[in-house]
Amino acid sequence: MQDVLTNTKKSKELYKRACELIPGGVNSPVRSFKAVESEPLFITKAKGSYIWDADQNKYIDYVCSWGPLIHGHAHPEATEAIENALAKGISYGASHENEIELAEIIIKHMPSIERIRLVNSGTEAVMTALRLARAFTKRNKIIKFSGCYHGHSDSVLSNSGSGIATLGLPSCAGVTKNTASETITLPFNNFHNVEMTISKFPKEVAAVIVEPVVGNSGVIPPEANFLKSLRELTKKHNCLLIFDEVITGFRLALGGAQNIYKIIPDLTILGKIIGGGMPIGAVGGKKEIMELLAPLGPVYQAGTLSGNPISVACGIATLNMLNEETYTYLESISSLLCESIKEINEETNNKVQINRVGSMFTIFFTGTRVYDYASSKKSNTKIFTKFFQNMLQNGIYLAPSQFEANFISTSHKEEDIKKTLAVYKQVISAV
Ligand SMILES: *Cc1c(COP(=O)(O)O)cnc(C)c1O
Repeated sequence: MQDVLTNTKKSKELYKRACELIPGGVNSPVRSFKAVESEPLFITKAKGSYIWDADQNKYIDYVCSWGPLIHGHAHPEATEAIENALAKGISYGASHENEIELAEIIIKHMPSIERIRLVNSGTEAVMTALRLARAFTKRNKIIKFSGCYHGHSDSVLSNSGSGIATLGLPSCAGVTKNTASETITLPFNNFHNVEMTISKFPKEVAAVIVEPVVGNSGVIPPEANFLKSLRELTKKHNCLLIFDEVITGFRLALGGAQNIYKIIPDLTILGKIIGGGMPIGAVGGKKEIMELLAPLGPVYQAGTLSGNPISVACGIATLNMLNEETYTYLESISSLLCESIKEINEETNNKVQINRVGSMFTIFFTGTRVYDYASSKKSNTKIFTKFFQNMLQNGIYLAPSQFEANFISTSHKEEDIKKTLAVYKQVISAV
């Protein structure tokens, strides 16, 4: 194989410096490239579908900042919105009109949301949603699914895919037994198990929280009726259904996964795309639940930088650029990539599964279907590592873990896809 061996001397030096100051050299674990037995690249510049590292190597980027950049890097309209907002001050710690505008845009597309509160991250939004669910139902237990990630707060860290799966940690140290014992973790796509569990603890489950399309153990779509059955069951037992749409919100459709699968959750968590790459998170849902939040109700929640004018301006610009054509384009370009990969796999007889929903996809190195966390874990991470490294050396920047989603943006063009396919064809026969 004609490796375009990238020179990564500067990244290596920077990583060394970072390791002396920052735990593991990174500010979020999956960035370390540990799962792919490599050292992290340091990025100096990004534009459209491309990123450049400290050694001037150029890559086609399928990470897209882990999902927020649905229009690609440094989109002129998002950048302009940030510049305009910047000229009017960085943070007020007080209300401003754009908070209302962002709320209006989100609520227009997600009718399940009657009231919404902005926070600074998906993690924060999940913390608030769980507190609200417990306050509203006066119950304590939470059901989550293995391989679903809901941020790094104590209650939701068991079997949470993604970073934890990547690093092979069974669970998280520092979480008390009491907290962990209030969380029940069940396999995704197995409704029977949920039904049994809720009937075992009839008046104790406050909420079921789910990524409607899993992104955090690689992409895993829900099976027919799984989400609908969860909706009916939670309603029957008076517990809340929480959709964590931090990835899927505005990624799969304007109304998120709830629109595609026609489900009305009680609470929805948003993040990533609604900030267009700036830090943000949101929790929204039924008025009677949301109005338990302070200052109206007894559930306390606050944030010095919540509703930050720069984040909100970037979020508004990002959402305003989305329309039906956006999703038609994303579907066609994503389908071109993934269907062509499938054809190459058939020709070369590879044991590879490709899971895709809209513009999110994962290439799993396993011969069997991936429908939950356990089946994703059957993937051969040794082969994935080799595959990842070879793709990277040839200018294709995929998520540095077998258990992550890759993202396609509107700035990915047919020529990027063609280049990616040419590299894939070479690499897949070499690994
Ligand atoms: C990224 C993510 C979160 C956490 O959001 P942060 O902004 O990183 O705290 C929560 N849930 C899902 C589904 C995510 O993908």
